[in-house]
Amino acid sequence: MASLWRRGLWHLAELLLPNRCWLCLGSEQEAGPIRFGLCTVCYTAAVTDPHACCPRCATTVGKYGDYATGCPQCRSGPWILSGTIRLGPYDGCLRQIILLMKTPQGEALAEWMGAVLAEERGGAIRNLSVDLVTCVPIHWKRRWHRGHNQADRLARMLARRLHLPYNPRLLRRRHGIAQEEQLSASARWTNASGAFSLRPGATLKGKRILIVDDVMTTGATLTAAAQQLLKGRASAVYGAVLARA
Ligand SMILES: [Zn+2]
Ligand SMILES: [Zn+2]
Repeated sequence: MASLWRRGLWHLAELLLPNRCWLCLGSEQEAGPIRFGLCTVCYTAAVTDPHACCPRCATTVGKYGDYATGCPQCRSGPWILSGTIRLGPYDGCLRQIILLMKTPQGEALAEWMGAVLAEERGGAIRNLSVDLVTCVPIHWKRRWHRGHNQADRLARMLARRLHLPYNPRLLRRRHGIAQEEQLSASARWTNASGAFSLRPGATLKGKRILIVDDVMTTGATLTAAAQQLLKGRASAVYGAVLARA
């Protein structure tokens, strides 16, 4: 894995040095064909899910259990997503990609990963027969700081590739504390509830909605977002994430 400073320098020079892998920085000559911004080795590592996962909450589960109605984790909590699709666990290459997507330079990578999610999990997503794709919003202050919302870029490209309508239906009401790093699991559920509201005029009655985020940690954020969509009379809400912690 290339060091952060080397990667930073490269991202500054990316317009001058096209066709390099976002992760290992290898050129096409060194690393082979670049697809969706990644060389073959990094692409394969990012999209290969080595584990079975729960169809309801996408937590890693054992290979031989029966998880059709959920796993111990989602059966014990207030889980309202009808199903969750992931690319893989929050680990290795996929974790590196997600961290890069959150940098101000990460917008293009987030779009590539939307295309990758469509390419690799498009069949599973089509099987959900959703009517609309939306994303987990970030507060405008964070968006201003970062320059983009990686979940919006991801969801937009996923929807475009799957020919599904996309609409960012939710607003983030609270700036809050960065969910991922600073809160305990129980505090995340409290912090997330009430963090979202529906945009005025959003009509969701009877719609099956896919809500997209980059990473799911406890599921508190997606659950709080899904609650608002269900309050707006959506008939079912599914989640799609790049990675599940
Ligand atoms: Zn690579
Ligand atoms: Zn589960």
